Amino acid sequence: MAMGNRHDDLWSGQILGHGGVDPDSPAGGSGPGKSRRPGPLREVVGASALPHPDAPAKRHSYIAKKSAHVVSARMLFIAKARARAISRLAARLKDLEAWDDATAQCFKGWFGSADKSARDTIRARIEAAIKKLKAADLIFIPNKKSDDYAYVFPRDKASGTERKVFHGAAFWHASELTQAGTLIHEVSHFITVGGTDDVGSESKDWKAVDFAGMNPLKYGGSHAAYGGTRAARLALSHPNLALMNADSFEFFIERRKASVIFDEDGKLDTEGLGDFPTPSGNVG
Ligand SMILES: [Zn+2]
Repeated sequence: MAMGNRHDDLWSGQILGHGGVDPDSPAGGSGPGKSRRPGPLREVVGASALPHPDAPAKRHSYIAKKSAHVVSARMLFIAKARARAISRLAARLKDLEAWDDATAQCFKGWFGSADKSARDTIRARIEAAIKKLKAADLIFIPNKKSDDYAYVFPRDKASGTERKVFHGAAFWHASELTQAGTLIHEVSHFITVGGTDDVGSESKDWKAVDFAGMNPLKYGGSHAAYGGTRAARLALSHPNLALMNADSFEFFIERRKASVIFDEDGKLDTEGLGDFPTPSGNVG
């Protein structure tokens, strides 16, 4: 997708999409994951799925089919994305401690409320996300059949999927900023991190997230509060839901302003028929 015209103070948050499947699941893949926006396909392999150099070849390993230099490049690719995500999360943790006017306004813009309870929730989530992204057992699994950026299965704890982030083809073509944002978004879904939702992906939340002029074709037809303008609107209308929305969290980490007018690429977002709500705390 096009990635131009981004604000200097923004990390571009690519926003989501539709469900994926767990290629490791006993059924060979079933049920929707928490996912992101689809993109073009290309085969890729995750870094942490790599065997030790001295380990015997595994018959079913993707890696066995890949040359060493390609594997190394992919390891580095993931490692850099994790480092960028951790760095940004850590910076935001400091911002929360300092709590200057800009941080407070940004927080309110994405979450609708900046009371102590909300701040404590986000602080704890950031700390948990950093811990998760630093965890040695967090693995990244490629699914070349998925055209999403990434997805996870946060409520399937029995199979240990809180250790797994599945990457679709689009992830590998995204900007560096988007890759980091994707990791932040995905790990926030884990119950042990934030238990966030893509609010509106289920029909029970449609009434809360819908607004006049919502484009039903955007984001693969999902009603979810994906993207900057939808997330900012959710903060205005339902702070309690915004606090649990994965993209809202991602954007607070990535971006310094919430806007109901400009999308994640800094472009005018006409969704909503120009009827832009403009309370304080939100850039109208
Ligand atoms: Zn999600």
